[in-house]
Amino acid sequence: MTVSEKLNQSIRDIPDFPKPGIIFKDITPVLSNPSLVKEIVDWFAEKAKEQDIDVIVGVESRGFLFGMLIAERLGIPFVPVRKEGKLPYKTVKHAYSLEYGSASMEIHEDALKPGQRVMIHDDLLATGGTAEAAAILVEKLGAVACNFTFLIELGFLEGRLKLKSHNESIHSIVS
Ligand code: IMP
Repeated sequence: MTVSEKLNQSIRDIPDFPKPGIIFKDITPVLSNPSLVKEIVDWFAEKAKEQDIDVIVGVESRGFLFGMLIAERLGIPFVPVRKEGKLPYKTVKHAYSLEYGSASMEIHEDALKPGQRVMIHDDLLATGGTAEAAAILVEKLGAVACNFTFLIELGFLEGRLKLKSHNESIHSIVS
């Protein structure tokens, strides 16, 4: 079985979570399968190597899980992007609109150096608003968003279209 097939079988669909009408993709069963976790990290590490990535940027909160593992595997830094008000040091902020209302993401102002090659990682790509906000923060610090990686992509929401203006290199294990 390929890693995509294994991951596909391990994702649990939770109807009506966190709100009625939403089917939530639950990756916690993946986390309890260490051999699958290793294969997933291998897959992402390969994508990072292809692009000569210097830093992994992981998006709160499930982007931290594999983001940190990928960084450790490659021996490169991990940098968190978090929702407003969570990071303790001085931050750079980006506000973006959601279907209903708006959200704001932050990165520590000294987290990246100009010109560093960054992989942006999260568990899931839906509309692309969150990953795009992370890319904008990376760019505000003068670094380069070289690729985006996700475990799961909800293709029908076309998040890919939003990310393409930052970089065409978008990789999801399961779509
Ligand atoms: P987007 O900004 O619409 O692309 O939403 C992506 C963000 O929402 C990511 O940070 C995901 O972790 C989270 N998200 C949305 N739907 C799901 C889901 O079904 N399972 C897990 N995370 C989700």
